[in-house]
Amino acid sequence: MQKFYKIITYGCQMNVHESEKLAGILTRLDYMPTEDEALADVIVFNTCCIRENAEQHALGNLGALKYLKAKKPSLIIALGGCMIQQDNVAKEVKKSYPFVDILFGTHNLEDFGVLLKKRLETGKKVVEIVGDKPKICENVVPFRTSYPNAWVNIMQGCNNFCTYCIVPYVRGREKSRSMQAIYSEVQKLVLLGYKEITLLGQNVNSYGKDLNDGTNFAKLIDFLQEVRGEFRLRFMTNHPKDLTEELVIAIANNKNCCHAIHLPVQAGSDEILKKMNRRYTSKDYLDKVAIIKKHLPDCAITTDIMVGFPGETEQDFLDTLNLVKKVGFASAFTFVYSPRKGTIAAEMPNQIDEAVKKDRIMRLVDLCNEQTRQFSATYLNKEITILCEDYDKKRDLYLGRDQYGRMGYFKSQENLIGEFVTIKVNSATGISLYGDIVEE
Ligand code: SF4
Repeated sequence: MQKFYKIITYGCQMNVHESEKLAGILTRLDYMPTEDEALADVIVFNTCCIRENAEQHALGNLGALKYLKAKKPSLIIALGGCMIQQDNVAKEVKKSYPFVDILFGTHNLEDFGVLLKKRLETGKKVVEIVGDKPKICENVVPFRTSYPNAWVNIMQGCNNFCTYCIVPYVRGREKSRSMQAIYSEVQKLVLLGYKEITLLGQNVNSYGKDLNDGTNFAKLIDFLQEVRGEFRLRFMTNHPKDLTEELVIAIANNKNCCHAIHLPVQAGSDEILKKMNRRYTSKDYLDKVAIIKKHLPDCAITTDIMVGFPGETEQDFLDTLNLVKKVGFASAFTFVYSPRKGTIAAEMPNQIDEAVKKDRIMRLVDLCNEQTRQFSATYLNKEITILCEDYDKKRDLYLGRDQYGRMGYFKSQENLIGEFVTIKVNSATGISLYGDIVEE
């Protein structure tokens, strides 16, 4: 009889890709995907703990499955991901959610098939959470659902300990894959027809340091020039302190590399950057931007910015606005700081009042939206190449991004998903562009 699985994913792109690996493991065990929980034989929660509300959300959804388990005792419920790497959460789940069959962490995702078999054979709850030992899944073939885009992990973990972030505590120290393993995976994906490959890591700029053989991210970008086929190369995410001129030159020299760099600044005040333990100043950041503009004058620089970090004064916030004005970002993800239990920043004095945070985020969003609009306006009447990646049924439009990350929409009678398409832009709203196909 056919067996089905459902994976519920929380959090970042890294987790989405890890869910593809879990799906790959389940596919090899002859399970088929389903969205219908009532049909599923296995339901896996791949959790994220970066934000506390994601954690609460996951626990809420998990609790709602209790009734399903009571109706169908053969259903296997598994909970994995970085949330479970926290001792207190693992203990709470064991105590308050006794119907969970398998608990596993981020470091032993590769073993999920073995854990599932163990649960099925013994009928007993399986709890296997490995500590601070990131393991690269070299032996799992992901079940990818994002054609024509594919994600490739190049490293696990993070060594940075930004004071607001829980990642290094739950994902462990940096561990890089070999250049050869990454090259092989990228080449196979391109041969299979994938057109956009995104290299993933918490801080791709420090890729290779732990290998202690001179490998670095710039060398990896150079090495990937050897991959045969038509495709685009992207990577995320970067840390300003580790972004080097050697890397920017490697990007400029690699014909497949998109001229788009996501460089999270977080704040423009040196005092706040220090409290965040970001290990760069606003001047260091602007120097990195100058290096990018020198070698990649057309590069779209995007960023993450946080407001309301503990102790942030009005002047600190104005420093952030000034930095944003100086750089001119193509787009920015803006956040209000919220304390994350288990981090240093959560214990800092002078937490900022919610009303002040709200006022600052609105002022920041206004500025960033204006920059986004200005960047999009430069596209009007231009021809751009986009990789068609989806079809919007509601609007009856195909869509895809250009190399700078802008989303373009267009009409087509043909299904062009997976094709590079040239469109002439005739309107731009926010981060979206609309145009017509340019006939060859
Ligand atoms: S670089 Fe900082 S924010 Fe990014 S994952 Fe590491 S600790 Fe977290």
